[in-house]
Amino acid sequence: MRRRIAVVGAGPGGLTFARVLHRHGYPVAVLERDPAPDARPPGGTLDLHEGLGQLALDKAGLRAEFQALSRPEGQAMRILDTAGTVLRDWRPAPDEQANPEIDRGQLRDLLLGPLDVRWGQEVTQVVPGAGDGARVHFADGRQETFDLVVGADGAWSRVRPAVSAATPRYTGVTAVETSLDDVDTRHPDLAQLIGDGSVAVYGVNRSLVAQRNSGGHVKVYATFRAPLDWHAELDLTDVEATRSGLLAMFDGWAAPMLDLLGHGTAFLHRPCYVLPVSHTWAHARGVTLLGDAAHLMPPLGAGANLAMLDAAELAESVAADPEDLDEAVRAFEAQMWVRAERWAKITTAGLERLVSPDPTEALALFDDVQRS
Ligand SMILES: Cc1cc2nc3c(=O)[nH]c(=O)nc-3n(C[C@H](O)[C@H](O)[C@H](O)COP(=O)(O)OP(=O)(O)OC[C@H]3O[C@@H](n4cnc5c(N)ncnc54)[C@H](O)[C@@H]3O)c2cc1C
Repeated sequence: MRRRIAVVGAGPGGLTFARVLHRHGYPVAVLERDPAPDARPPGGTLDLHEGLGQLALDKAGLRAEFQALSRPEGQAMRILDTAGTVLRDWRPAPDEQANPEIDRGQLRDLLLGPLDVRWGQEVTQVVPGAGDGARVHFADGRQETFDLVVGADGAWSRVRPAVSAATPRYTGVTAVETSLDDVDTRHPDLAQLIGDGSVAVYGVNRSLVAQRNSGGHVKVYATFRAPLDWHAELDLTDVEATRSGLLAMFDGWAAPMLDLLGHGTAFLHRPCYVLPVSHTWAHARGVTLLGDAAHLMPPLGAGANLAMLDAAELAESVAADPEDLDEAVRAFEAQMWVRAERWAKITTAGLERLVSPDPTEALALFDDVQRS
């Protein structure tokens, strides 16, 4: 008998899960809150690691397509001090495939391929114990039962309460994101500063990072330690007031870096939340979690990679023994928890060093990663 499987969320995790099962001939209902793929800006670039996100794409049969789209040159990294002196200028070899970059929108479209996502389906709750499976409640009042519901619905998962009482905690680190368009034509000096990949400047408890996406688009992140309500006096939709507030925060930094904040036409607030480092739950028949819903951690280049590998492994586990879904899920959870704990420790320690009272810590972290 065909088992009814649903995944909540069409992010990197949910789509990889559905795509790998599709490759094995199993249909999955992908339930996504957004009304359409382009309903909101897809976000910045992602680096996919050889042993994580790229491995997941292998399992989906999409490695070659990824290589055609991705930007190995985007791995380049330049680090400056606040006076503008170049401290590191690392460029990848032309055949370096360890962590190539891809735009999130391109990755989404690659994974979407033949999948038939149910857009505009907001899940409000999942209740295990509907026979052997779980019942999904939708915002419009409908309910539907599945043999397995996979929560891939991100940081503020509505599936997670079905298995765990954990909620994300604010780390004390926040970021404000802005963008530059047509950087090569409109801001050639900044284009040169950023190079093919990223430029980063680390100061006391704060940093400025600019990352090149495809098509001359650049994302700029101003990251700093602050209470969650740091902007109580500031309307973040007031672009000029936000710009002035940020420039004051980075006062004294060399002009080319401050210029990164000078052109954006919108600022997005991205406070950094995390789940507990060792987040696990008592296994519940018919429901599981993957990606940020299971192990939200600081954004240090691992989250999407882990979501994708979780997803690919769960899909393969299900495809190997669809008659015993429960055993497939148990095996997946045990493996995922170990890997997630390891990366949660790495990224938590990494965040402390990147946004540190001692800026040399960030440089030392970069050197440690290069050596490893
Ligand atoms: C600034 C920044 C930079 C980052 N850079 C990197 C990087 O370089 N490399 C990397 O690996 N990771 C990076 N990350 C982390 C990465 O973005 C996440 O870890 C990753 O997106 C998690 O994927 P996911 O599929 O688990 O969840 P998400 O990407 O959050 O997707 C969840 C999906 O579920 C949908 N959804 C949510 N609630 C519901 C609901 N109730 N009903 C139906 N659908 C719902 C959402 O609309 C969304 O489509 C970064 C994060 C940030 C903030």
